[in-house]
Amino acid sequence: MKTLALIVPCFNEADVLGMFYNETKKVIDSISGEYMTELVFVDDGSRDDTLKIVKELAARDHHVKYISFSRNFGKEAAMLAGMEYAVKADFVGILDADLQHSPEIIPEMLHFVDKEGFDVAAANREDREGEAKFKSFLSESFYKVINKVSETKITESAQDFRIMKKDVVKAIISLPENIRFSKGIFSWVGFKVKWIGHTNRERAAGETKWSITKLLKYAIDGILSFTTTPLRFSFVLSLLCALIAFGCFIYAVIRNIITPVYAAVVPFILTGMFFIAFLLFLVIGILGEYLARVYTETKDRPKYIISQTNTQVVYSFSEDD
Ligand code: UDP
Ligand code: MG
Repeated sequence: MKTLALIVPCFNEADVLGMFYNETKKVIDSISGEYMTELVFVDDGSRDDTLKIVKELAARDHHVKYISFSRNFGKEAAMLAGMEYAVKADFVGILDADLQHSPEIIPEMLHFVDKEGFDVAAANREDREGEAKFKSFLSESFYKVINKVSETKITESAQDFRIMKKDVVKAIISLPENIRFSKGIFSWVGFKVKWIGHTNRERAAGETKWSITKLLKYAIDGILSFTTTPLRFSFVLSLLCALIAFGCFIYAVIRNIITPVYAAVVPFILTGMFFIAFLLFLVIGILGEYLARVYTETKDRPKYIISQTNTQVVYSFSEDD
């Protein structure tokens, strides 16, 4: 029998876990003829009864596993812990505990990865109904910026809700970086993705765990983890200063030719100032280029990821090592 592990990151989800379990269990039972499914709850340092409830579920259903963090490490860490645990399963899924990610589409997702030759089946949000206008605006702007500055393209509507083959999970956890931005990592590792339209439901109970500050930090992590473009900003400034210095110089010269009696010193001083600024920004820009390389190297990501081969290669995530 094929194995499926469903990872559920939970942070203070006591209000919704019972409902989540019942709905998801129905789906798991409906596919139990073909797949052996484990439900892996990752308790991300909840301060409510989340862990207690999960333990109760585990006591009566041996397919329920749990991993509980010592404190709140964030959803990214919770997903990683789940994937590292579940990598032995043939298929690994991730879904939120609040039932916004409808478990009912799991069989459809499984069908695409198991039968149709896709490596990943991921939910693609069809609309942002039920989300605050301001939040939608912020997140739309964020995706515009990140797709402009970064080589890793991120589909705005792509969600964390997905089912992946084992090889994809291995590839994802092989990225050793500490600051993890999964939306980017999912896109970075590549593989053949089937997008499945999905409308987020209202949160079944409890409230969102994302404050504006948390979202802002998430956005900054996303941009800084996938591009070093901001480090090039110095070059732009240096170019700007060079142009101003040049302008000042021309102005100073013309001024002194036209009215030599009243020698204009200020434009010359300005020329000098902007010239120095130009040199400084240039040097900072060069430092930035080295820093960008150091940054990229320290992330120590794999140089490539192989999805298929008919021979023995050094770095293959498809081997069962
Ligand atoms: N979550 C988590 N750690 C956190 C924040 C959230 O594990 O620090 C989980 C949360 O329990 C839920 C999922 O991540 O299962 C998505 O969170 P939420 O529903 O609050 O986000 P939203 O849907 O509002 O974007
Ligand atoms: Mg939610």
